[in-house]
Amino acid sequence: MGNTKKNRIMVIGAGGVATVAVHKCAQVPHVFNEILVASRTLSKCEAIQRAIRKKYNREIQISQVDADNVPELMMLIEKFKPDIVLNLALPYQDLHIMDACYATGVHYIDTANYESPDNPHFEYSWQWAYQGRFKEKGIMAVLGCGFDPGVTNIFTAYAQKHIFDEIHYLDILDCNAGNHGHPFATNFNPEINIREVTQVVRHWKKGRWIETPPIIEEGSIHFTFDYPVVGKKESYLLYHEELESLVLHIKGLKRARFWMTFSDNYLTHLRVLKNIGMTRIDGVEYEGHTVVPIKFLKALLPEPASLGTMYKGKTVIGNIMTGVKDGKTMTRYIYNVCDHEEAFKETGTQAIAYTTGVPAMIGAMLVMTGVWKGTGVYNMEQLDPDPFMEALNKYGLPWQVVKHEPLPDTM
Ligand code: NDP
Repeated sequence: MGNTKKNRIMVIGAGGVATVAVHKCAQVPHVFNEILVASRTLSKCEAIQRAIRKKYNREIQISQVDADNVPELMMLIEKFKPDIVLNLALPYQDLHIMDACYATGVHYIDTANYESPDNPHFEYSWQWAYQGRFKEKGIMAVLGCGFDPGVTNIFTAYAQKHIFDEIHYLDILDCNAGNHGHPFATNFNPEINIREVTQVVRHWKKGRWIETPPIIEEGSIHFTFDYPVVGKKESYLLYHEELESLVLHIKGLKRARFWMTFSDNYLTHLRVLKNIGMTRIDGVEYEGHTVVPIKFLKALLPEPASLGTMYKGKTVIGNIMTGVKDGKTMTRYIYNVCDHEEAFKETGTQAIAYTTGVPAMIGAMLVMTGVWKGTGVYNMEQLDPDPFMEALNKYGLPWQVVKHEPLPDTM
C-alpha cells in the first residue's frame, strides 16, 4: 500500500448494515482510530454520526459520495487516506469501488457480490477477475464478509479445519423468526432482496448445479426444520452466493444447499407483487416518466434500517455439515442465535443488519491489524477462521457446535 497505516476506515453506504458496522467500529477505537461514512444521502450519514456521538462520545467524519463515480470515490479516498474501504452500499457499486481501491492502493471488503442493475444475476466472476490487479498492487479484497455469505463460509472453514477430515454434505439454514409488525417489509435492501428471492433456485449435487423453481412458484422445494430456540419453521431451498465459492474451495463436497425461512404472509405478498408486475426491473412509461417498478416499490416499503423499532424475536443462522473424521461419518451443526430487540438496543437497528454489520467490522479489524494478510481477492473460507470465530464470540454473535442428525437428500 502506498500510505502508511493510519487505522482509518472508510465505510461506503449508510443503510442498516452500515449503521451496525459503524457502531461496532466505534466500539473498538484502538483498531479504528478514524472513521469516515460516505454515502449518497448525506442526511443518513449525519444520523449515524449523531448516534455515534451520543452513544460513544466519538466524532466520526461524513461525506456525500456517488459510489458509481470512480473519480469522485478516488478523490475522497485520496483525501481521507483510509487503510480499508468497507463497501456497505449495494452490489451494483462493487466494481466501481474495487476500481477506486485498485487505483488508490487500498484494501477492499464487501458483504454481497456484484450484480448488474439490468440483470438480476449474481456471481463472483466479475470480482474474481480483479485477482491479478489486486495482487500486483499488493492489496487485499475480502468478498462476502457478512453473515451469509460471510460467517457461513467461516463456519465451513472452521469445520474443515477442526472437525472433519472431509465435509461431504453442507446445508446452510437461515431462519428469521422475528416479527417486525409491518404487513410486508424486507430485512435488507428491498430491491436486492426481491431480486434474490425471485430467482430460479440452484443447489450443488455431484459436481453440478441442479435447478428448481423459485420459492414463490409451484414445485418449489421446502421442508419444516426444527430450529434451536425458535422451533419449527418452513424452510425454502434458495440459491445463495456463498455456494459458488464454497463448492470450489471446500474439497470433497458432494452436495451443498441453502435454505431460508419464509412465512406464508411474505410469500403471498411477493407472489401478488410479482403477478402484477411490481417486481419488474425494466423501465415502464408512466405519464411522461420512466418508472422502474421495483425501485418504486422500494420507495414505498419501510427502510430496512427502520424496522428495529418494533422487531421482536430471533434469527438462527448456521450450517449442518456431514462428513468423515478418522473414517467415521458424523454430522455437526454450527449456528448463531441473534435477538432483534437486543440488536436494536445496541445499535438502533434489527438483527439482519446486526448479523451482517458485525462480521463486516470483524473482517475489517482482522485486515486492519494484519491478522489476515494477503494480496489478491479472497472469499472468506480461504482465510484463517480461528481469529474470526473468536471475534464473533467477543463482538456479539456467539456460536455453538452441536451434534445433529444428517439432513435427507430429498425433502
Ligand atoms: P440499504 O439499502 O439500507 O443501504 C444501502 C446504502 O447504500 C444506502 O445508504 C444507500 O444510499 C447507499 N448507496 C446506494 N447506492 C449508492 C451510491 N451509488 N453511492 C453511494 N451510496 C449508495 O441496504 P442494507 O444496509 O440493508 O444492505 C447493505 C448491503 O449489505 C447490500 O449490498 C446487501 O446486499 C448486503 N447484505 C449482505 C448480507 C450478508 O449476510 N452477507 C445480509 C444483508 C445485506 P441511499 O440512502 O441514498 O439509498
